[in-house]
Amino acid sequence: MTALPTLFISHGAPTLAITDTAAHRFLQALGKQLPHPKAIVVASAHWETTEPRISAQVRNTTIHDFHGFPDALHRMQYPAPGDPALAAQIAGLLNAAGLGGTPDPARGLDHGAWVPLSLMYPAADIPTLQVSLQTAKGPAHHLALGRALAPLRNQGVLIVGSGSFTHDLGRFHGQPIDTPAPPDVVAFADWFDDALVQNRQDDLLHYRTRAPHAVDNHPTEEHLLPLFVAQGAADGAAAQRLHDSSEFGILRMDAYGFGVEDLQKAS
Ligand code: ZN
Repeated sequence: MTALPTLFISHGAPTLAITDTAAHRFLQALGKQLPHPKAIVVASAHWETTEPRISAQVRNTTIHDFHGFPDALHRMQYPAPGDPALAAQIAGLLNAAGLGGTPDPARGLDHGAWVPLSLMYPAADIPTLQVSLQTAKGPAHHLALGRALAPLRNQGVLIVGSGSFTHDLGRFHGQPIDTPAPPDVVAFADWFDDALVQNRQDDLLHYRTRAPHAVDNHPTEEHLLPLFVAQGAADGAAAQRLHDSSEFGILRMDAYGFGVEDLQKAS
């Protein structure tokens, strides 16, 4: 079996699930273009723990970890099966890499996982797990965490980092969804895209001091760290931008594939 590519996707606001935007349509198309995975492992910005944990429910519960959105969103369910045996395997891989890792039989899927997956795989029939972030440990740790997961790609497991390419929610004041991205958002995204495509790994790992407006666009790192998991899991495979758009000016919705040379560009 050919190794599956890995993905970084931007999940934006939870309304991505129900609002017809360019990013919404991109994710719908992407799910149809990828080889059908046997299982999906998501590193979401919305699960942070001190040490790595792996969700291990038999059938996933849907976590509505947001407030004040339309009832339709609060009612949405994404009851994908879990895979406790795969969770145990992942714990083994992470422990072998010296990172620690414990299955969590009580954890369901947060909106960073189920919102994009509801567009990519609406049938919710693929076993799905999450791996938590350790935000305080920064990019290099998450690159290593991804590397530890790399062998799963040969088992037909799709590894997805779910965050946001830019994420300064402090600048959300109810502006329209089609507000253009301000110059600092564009400058950060352009720098990061160049660094990814040119595989400037040292710059990427030190993006907070080297990228323009890095701290403005990521006041905290949790929405960008999933990208390092996806990159690490691809084990050196080239990055390719699959999508770029912005919502509310401040949320770049860009998506990247690692090791997708054979995959038709999805946007
Ligand atoms: Zn988020």
